[in-house]
Amino acid sequence: MSRPPFKRILLKLSGEALMGNAGFGIDPAETARIAGEIKLAQAAGFELCLVTGGGNIFRGLAAAAKGFDRANADYMGMLATVMNALAMQNALEQAGVDTRVQSAIPMASVCEPYIRRRAERHLEKGRVVIFAAGTGNPYFTTDTAAALRAAEMKCNALFKGTSVDGVYDADPKKVETAKRYDRVGFSKVLADDLKVMDASAVSLCRDNDIPIVVFNIREQGNLARVLAGEGVSTIVTNEA
Ligand code: UDP
Repeated sequence: MSRPPFKRILLKLSGEALMGNAGFGIDPAETARIAGEIKLAQAAGFELCLVTGGGNIFRGLAAAAKGFDRANADYMGMLATVMNALAMQNALEQAGVDTRVQSAIPMASVCEPYIRRRAERHLEKGRVVIFAAGTGNPYFTTDTAAALRAAEMKCNALFKGTSVDGVYDADPKKVETAKRYDRVGFSKVLADDLKVMDASAVSLCRDNDIPIVVFNIREQGNLARVLAGEGVSTIVTNEA
């Protein structure tokens, strides 16, 4: 698969990715493994921004379905993303990668507040910047936060690390004949409601011409492969 060279990328790590095979929370071994993959990507010359999800700890929508006030539950979800960001920071620094965490909800004793220009400076200095607390607003997801930060930080692409190897025309875990797309257009993703990211995240990427690369982060060495334009993934663009 040929694609333009990406220099600066945003990697969206769902809470599920940090959970490994456990049913809940953060798996230190899996977090360390992902940190190793990020270290390799950085060594290959990529500038990396990360956005962490929180679904391995708390999801606002699920809690609201059980009677929580939605906005309150969403703030709890955003706090969960900060825990994941700190876990990634810990793993990356243990692997020798310099990092900074910036939170959309200021928490001065824990990490930096989100300041775009400061984040830019960190990237110039070779640090990995981890964006936490989503957009800072309830009723959003960390997918939308990833699209927003990718646009603000002028990332060349948004890489979404999941537990499947791309975008399918049906759920590959349920439909045996489901077909994976190598490339697919934003408009088809939106029209057919394909499971890539939520619609607001997809539209933000479409409007700002930021390709989304969906790949399996659970497979060892896959981040490096997809960054090199090899391996199995789906790329969502305006041109497909
Ligand atoms: N969240 C929010 N606003 C945001 C981003 C996240 O309110 O801008 C909350 C929301 O409750 C969500 C939770 O944080 O369920 C965890 O994020 P998400 O579900 O996107 O995590 P992932 O599925 O990537 O693990």
